[in-house]
Amino acid sequence: TRFHDLGLENDLMHAIADLGFEYCSPIQAQSLPYALRGRDVVGKAQTGTGKTAAFLAAIIDDLLKHKLTEERYAGEARALVIAPTRELVMQISDDAKALCKHTDLQIHTLVGGMDYSKQQRRLHDTLVDILVATPGRLLDFCRNKDVFLDQLEILVIDEADRMLDMGFIPQVRQIVRQTPKREERQTLFFSATFTDEVHRLVEQWTNDPVTVEI
Ligand code: AMP
Repeated sequence: TRFHDLGLENDLMHAIADLGFEYCSPIQAQSLPYALRGRDVVGKAQTGTGKTAAFLAAIIDDLLKHKLTEERYAGEARALVIAPTRELVMQISDDAKALCKHTDLQIHTLVGGMDYSKQQRRLHDTLVDILVATPGRLLDFCRNKDVFLDQLEILVIDEADRMLDMGFIPQVRQIVRQTPKREERQTLFFSATFTDEVHRLVEQWTNDPVTVEI
């Protein structure tokens, strides 16, 4: 599959071409046709497979196709990506910035160790189109009412198995509870391994998902 054949928005396609991507990787070829139609996707994929560009392209295409007309309150996020570590969040956020470079979509990155008040000011001053965060830091912002997830359109859970291993699931659960019901949001769920515990999370958080495995 070529990216050109997916019917992506021009400003996204332009950024993909700038990155030199022409052909979809297997996880992208299998997941994007479903994700772009709004289906929930459960992906079994390791790092290095191109899963980041897969979920980011789905988010960006959706946000560009559905321009919001109503006024948005400060801190209301349209898309959220949760990942277990600071490094992973920074990497996802850099990829998101590259893919959004021809758009006016605003990306916010929330990780521990970053200046809280600076981030807080930016959340108040700039629309929150895509939020990329680690669970603990995100919950701090939610508790302080600097971030609101009740209007969320797309939720991405990346490396669910590592979040389980690191003991983050109670925090992720609290975050998911603040988002719209699973029937009213799109959920993209990625994990390298699928234990019984991971399957239980899939059952709780996704709605009639398509499962892709590479
Ligand atoms: P990831 O698995 O998301 O960590 O991506 C692994 C690497 O592959 C990243 O450096 C991406 O920039 C690159 N990449 C992702 N999709 C493609 C593609 N379709 N063609 C070429 N490189 C890609």
